[in-house]
Amino acid sequence: MKKNREMKVKQIENGTVIDHITANKSLHVLNVLGLPKKNTSLTIAMNVPSDAIEFKDIVKIESRELKPTELDQVALIAPNATINIIRNYEIVTKEKIKFRNELNSIIKCTNQKCVTNTNEPIKPKFKFVKETPVLLRCYYCDRLITAEEIKAQFY
Ligand SMILES: [Zn+2]
Repeated sequence: MKKNREMKVKQIENGTVIDHITANKSLHVLNVLGLPKKNTSLTIAMNVPSDAIEFKDIVKIESRELKPTELDQVALIAPNATINIIRNYEIVTKEKIKFRNELNSIIKCTNQKCVTNTNEPIKPKFKFVKETPVLLRCYYCDRLITAEEIKAQFY
């Protein structure tokens, strides 16, 4: 039964499968990754029945293995995600998404006076305070950024 469900989504030869994305969040995951983009084939499955969480989304990105910096962004939106790296139709690694202590992010600090929001060429950087729900602290001004504030930048 479970196998049949998995078969609904076509296999990819090489690339990344992001599994166990919170239901209906796959488009936001694509958003933080700057996808869809020309020349990148994607398969998205939304609201797929799952054992671990009731429903989940799955994103398959062909011919591309996500970089650690990209996975940092995915963690912010889909903290329960599993990352599968596929090479020649085989899963070579399957790991729960990791939270690193510090991450550079495309999200913005909510403090307008923060040095990352001025014209200085300083990229936002955050420290993880808590995973569920996500809570970040700005590396530069110590402003706390909540999961809701992160979402607001992508929804
Ligand atoms: Zn800041």
